[in-house]
Amino acid sequence: MTKINIAIDGYSSCGKSTIAKGLAQSLNYLYVDSGSMYRAVTLYALQNGMVEFEKVKEPELLNSLSKIRISFKLINGDQHTFLNDIDVEHEIRSHLVSQNVSQVARIPQIRRHLVEQQKSLGAKKGVVMDGRDIGTVVFPGAKVKFFVTADSDIRAQRRFKEMKEKGFNDVTFDMVKANIEERDFLDTHRKVSPLMKASDAVMLDTSNLSPKEQLEKALDIVNGNLKH
Ligand code: C5P
Repeated sequence: MTKINIAIDGYSSCGKSTIAKGLAQSLNYLYVDSGSMYRAVTLYALQNGMVEFEKVKEPELLNSLSKIRISFKLINGDQHTFLNDIDVEHEIRSHLVSQNVSQVARIPQIRRHLVEQQKSLGAKKGVVMDGRDIGTVVFPGAKVKFFVTADSDIRAQRRFKEMKEKGFNDVTFDMVKANIEERDFLDTHRKVSPLMKASDAVMLDTSNLSPKEQLEKALDIVNGNLKH
């Protein structure tokens, strides 16, 4: 069957990656978490003294862009992000990275650099990518696009649970909720590629859906499209 690209955008912690991973597994497609690329660049900035007083040193980071290599590898069925050949899958999920990532993601040159890599990952189709600008900028021609939403308290609870499960015990629910709200604000208000629904994206509210139900709904829509 002809392969397509699937774009999944939406607010922080609304279930995008669960749906994307499930779709990729069911269709035997490649899953790409574009947020992990912005997180990896942010981690690089933090590791190299390019964040001071909560501000990213933009010129220094831009000068280093050619030294930042991001790759992915499947390990026991889970996709891991590598920064210059080092597995950083755990570190990029830290609260510190979450606190700085939207500042990094609003820098136009960084977006251009990462979008180029994202586009080439999807060049041969058969990719499910989640993020903030996938349906609008990365794959504007994607055959299926979703825009995922969920109630902000539910999103904060999901993220908090996930952080605890990953061993980040130094965060409180209030810290997680404040970070989600701040990132949503910065991501929707930035000048370049702000988070918004593509006009042809299907809205999916996951507030009252289990992960299984979310995937079933998304798969129904994808299968309907694949028939045409
Ligand atoms: O998806 P995740 O929450 O891990 O993304 C982290 C951050 O990366 C987002 O809050 C946003 O600032 C940025 N991002 C982006 N464009 C994407 C994916 C993520 O700006 N396509």
